[in-house]
Amino acid sequence: MAEGAYAVGLAHAEAVDAEAISIHDRWIADRRHGSMEFAERYRDIRNDPRLLLDGARTIVSAAFNYHHVSADYGVAEYARGTDYHIVLRDRLGRAAAAIEAALGGTTRVCVDSAPIRERYWAQKSGVGFIGINNHLIIPGAGSRFVLGEILWTGEARPDEPCLLSCGKCMECVKRCPVAALRPDGSCDTSRCLSYLTIEHRGDLPDDTGLHGRVFGCDICLNACPHNAAAPLSGIEEFAPSPTLASYLDALRHGAAPSVSFRAATRSTALTRLPLHRLLRNLGIKG
Ligand code: SF4
Ligand code: SF4
Repeated sequence: MAEGAYAVGLAHAEAVDAEAISIHDRWIADRRHGSMEFAERYRDIRNDPRLLLDGARTIVSAAFNYHHVSADYGVAEYARGTDYHIVLRDRLGRAAAAIEAALGGTTRVCVDSAPIRERYWAQKSGVGFIGINNHLIIPGAGSRFVLGEILWTGEARPDEPCLLSCGKCMECVKRCPVAALRPDGSCDTSRCLSYLTIEHRGDLPDDTGLHGRVFGCDICLNACPHNAAAPLSGIEEFAPSPTLASYLDALRHGAAPSVSFRAATRSTALTRLPLHRLLRNLGIKG
């Protein structure tokens, strides 16, 4: 696959369908998005990606495998190596330049940098389906993937959407320790440990606890039978950072880390977290 993507699919750039819009609107209206006010903004763009690139006709969705075997030290697996935004921006940037050079038109790369519904478009372009746990599931490969998109003004034949679904499984709903997931696939993000450890500022709610999570949560992802035999990633940048692991280990055991917070988190997604919130998540008084 181009630039190391595990799966790639194409969809027509067009308005998002009414059902997907109403699901998102309900989630916002019910205040299940916690303090993530950005989820309320750019509704028009989120519902029509053509507003992101003048003349966009095609959306290329690409899934990159981040699965490396490593110990779980409370950091979600996708965040243990180099920040995927850096990795995918590079790779999709090169792919977009190659598309323009070979086929003409203009492109725009999106890696969580624009309000585009990435799982929706990945499903539309046949890459996978959206599970009850809200992850994109690639049939036969699971959901240990990060997604990026290339908007393109050129026209290409779209792939068939992926029409699979979870059926009656519900393992993720049963295993979520804070009852954030519901059987209809809606998620009370304000309770979700991924949100609480990464996005939530201030004190943590009394009724949830963090269940050992420090940055992100993989519990519903690990519960999913589709991930039982997930393929390993060949992308070296996603290999877990030993510096980060030993830094967190030292903090947990009350020892002095051998490197600074800045050095330990450099180039990882944990740069999004100020030190005082990392300490909060570890239960260490600042
Ligand atoms: S990420 Fe964790 S807390 Fe959030 S829904 Fe999944 S299992 Fe629950
Ligand atoms: S655990 Fe079951 S219900 Fe949840 S996402 Fe996976 S297949 Fe779907």
